[in-house]
Amino acid sequence: MESEIKRIHNLLSSGEISCKDLIGEKLLLLERNEYNTANLILKEYATQLAEKVDKRIQAGKKIGLLEGIPFGIKDVILLKGHKATASSDMLKEYIAPYSATVVQKLLDVGAIPIVKENCDSFGHGSTNENTIFGSVKNALDLRKVAGGSSGGSAVNVAKGITVFSIGGDTGGSIRQPSGYNKVYGLKPTYGKVSRYGMMAYASSLDTIGPIANSIEDIRILLDIISGEDIHDMNTYAGTVLPKKKFESESDPKNFTVGYYVDFVKSNFLHPKLKTEFNDLIEKLKFEGVEIVELNLLNTDLLVSIYYVLAMAETASNLARLDGINYGKRSDSRNLKESYSETRSENLSEETKRRIIGGNQVLSHGHSEDIYIKAIHLRNNLKKAFFNDLQTVDIILSPVSTVLPPNIGESLHDPYAMYLSDIYTVGFSLSELPVLNVPLFLETGLQIASNKNQEAMIFKFANYLKQISL
Ligand code: GLN
Repeated sequence: MESEIKRIHNLLSSGEISCKDLIGEKLLLLERNEYNTANLILKEYATQLAEKVDKRIQAGKKIGLLEGIPFGIKDVILLKGHKATASSDMLKEYIAPYSATVVQKLLDVGAIPIVKENCDSFGHGSTNENTIFGSVKNALDLRKVAGGSSGGSAVNVAKGITVFSIGGDTGGSIRQPSGYNKVYGLKPTYGKVSRYGMMAYASSLDTIGPIANSIEDIRILLDIISGEDIHDMNTYAGTVLPKKKFESESDPKNFTVGYYVDFVKSNFLHPKLKTEFNDLIEKLKFEGVEIVELNLLNTDLLVSIYYVLAMAETASNLARLDGINYGKRSDSRNLKESYSETRSENLSEETKRRIIGGNQVLSHGHSEDIYIKAIHLRNNLKKAFFNDLQTVDIILSPVSTVLPPNIGESLHDPYAMYLSDIYTVGFSLSELPVLNVPLFLETGLQIASNKNQEAMIFKFANYLKQISL
């Protein structure tokens, strides 16, 4: 599909549809949707914004590209004056006191938020079943999970309920649900997009990125939301994105592409995905793309490194949810009991599992053996990726090991769910940009490149799109 943003922009600016009708139609789709994608529908707010856009059009003003375009926001990202629940009991009534930088940038160019989207609580999960609002259902099959944690966002885009959505990706949460629901989803280079206003899961890994129906829309959005922000010291200025659309790249000699042999050999990988991936590699060779086989350090370690660090960081970040600083308080006989009841009652089993695991690996007597070791391994991993990306421009990988499971199926085995993240977490630990494309593999294909090489990723994605036709 070509840019949906541009298509709707043309309809709005030519007066073929009014913004109020457009937003009304999307709100209706939201209200009627059976996929459980919405934690909060922003009906009044969105309608008011749409009326303003219509007034400007009627007054003969030229509208911006994003003006009047409806979008969704994962419910761990703040929109001032509206609830931000993180799909949790703890923050069920929490009202955002300010807007996230990304959201503010989109509001500044006139885009219209219509929904706070269902997600795994605090980003903890890979199936979007860890939520007080009910599991999100897969856009292609209601019996299957949507993937997580940004499941509501991916399904809204897949069903055309939002034109794009803003998700969060700590260890795969944009890429994997995008893969499961056949849309595009970008995890940008760490630090390229401000995290300010996204509830922290694991701060050294957290990123915000767009989910959309075309490569061009992802490019347009990244251009708007990226850049330096005084509220997030990891961000930096400097755009590497050419302002204009990427021309379709047709010369395969422009790319050297690598893939990790262990990823594809792995017994974890579903046979169908294995065949699809191998077929793609053969096709690329046939087209004349140079293919390089790569070897990473023990791939089994990826999930362990990620979960040690992610749990340690989330245990620290969520310490503020004590019923006093933040969150719904369960009153009790004394302060200590109040802390304990507040956290026992209002956090999910999965979130508690991670807090307990995180505190364990950070505790005296364990941190040297586990937490510090994971940091060393992460540094080695970064170096390994860095070296590989000196020889290749692009690294390809499946997004997930499995096809979307049935709803309820993964809940009894959290460890198996963690293992299914094996292909996404390494790129997160190494701060690299990765785009999921809904091409060749049933549950999506990851295109990764070196830090700040999003432009290279878009070029290659366009090339793949062309040869997939
Ligand atoms: N599934 C991974 C986890 O549960 C990734 C989640 C995320 O990126 N927020 O940690």
